[in-house]
Amino acid sequence: MRTFFEPRLVNDAFGDPGLYVDFHDERRAVLFDLGDLSALPPRKLIRLTHVFVSHAHMDHFAGFDNLLRVVLGRKERITLFGGPDFIERVEHKLLAYAWNVVHRYEPEFVIDVRELSTGGGGSRACFSSKAKFAREACGSWEPAGDVLHEEARFRVRGRFVDHELPCLAFAIEEKAHMMVARDRLDAMGLATGPWLRELKEAILANAPGDRAITVRWRDREGAHEATRSVDELSPAILDVVAGRRIGYVTDLRYTEDNVRALVQLLDGVDLLFIESVFLDEDRDHAERKNHLTARQAGEIARAVRAGAVVPFHFSPRYQQRPAALAAEVQSAWSGAALSGRPP
Ligand SMILES: [Zn+2]
Ligand SMILES: [Zn+2]
Repeated sequence: MRTFFEPRLVNDAFGDPGLYVDFHDERRAVLFDLGDLSALPPRKLIRLTHVFVSHAHMDHFAGFDNLLRVVLGRKERITLFGGPDFIERVEHKLLAYAWNVVHRYEPEFVIDVRELSTGGGGSRACFSSKAKFAREACGSWEPAGDVLHEEARFRVRGRFVDHELPCLAFAIEEKAHMMVARDRLDAMGLATGPWLRELKEAILANAPGDRAITVRWRDREGAHEATRSVDELSPAILDVVAGRRIGYVTDLRYTEDNVRALVQLLDGVDLLFIESVFLDEDRDHAERKNHLTARQAGEIARAVRAGAVVPFHFSPRYQQRPAALAAEVQSAWSGAALSGRPP
């Protein structure tokens, strides 16, 4: 089935973390993390409208330069989201280059930067090529709870987890939507048209059944118009379909607080991308490095009741045996490891 968005890891499990989420119908994409982006061709970078950065370790942020270089002169705007000090970090990246001619580039390119504080407040600044990327005020940004970005068809939520520094875990969520049954519509002697949007909105808003909807459509014989109630029309609509929800979780310690934050963010996700850096036999080392073991990742996937789990961010020490990491995640997620040694 063709879905509204398609998430794909930017690199293989040993490469830098990053999740590219493509919205086919809208010819655009969003990206989680800015590590090594060399696997993404320019056309894929140009499609990006929003980028969410978990934290500023190099393997998650060093690709900023690469992105900027590709889109400059080809794109008008991009919005970046990050945690504490993010505006300043973007500013420092931009300060590293000489911009004496960039104000003449067409089109103007604006980087709109949104920074989330650990207290939940937001700040915002813009950097325009016309102003040689000097920091400018461009209005405020107030996140609504953990919702960082919201559009008609999807939202992105984020919550901090502890990685010895605050690191953002993300959820991308398609909103509930309705399917139209063309055969039932035909049987009613009606055809699709913009009126379906009004009907869908009425159903989602629990409008009274006798609410009148003006059904208008065009075909070879010209324009048609009919009036029907919401109750008469709703059989033409298949059930409300719950939107797909995806989690992107990387760089964190295994602590009770982190697991709790992730359950709040991700309970019941359909698909979870989660770091699985070390094998559980190296758990002490994982703790020192502020990362998860594969078993801990699988246990988190189980705790958030993920429908499926994709591990990534493998340590190079397992280059010869990635299957061991994947198997450990799957077994903890499915519960098969519960009889093993206690966590
Ligand atoms: Zn990392
Ligand atoms: Zn990190």
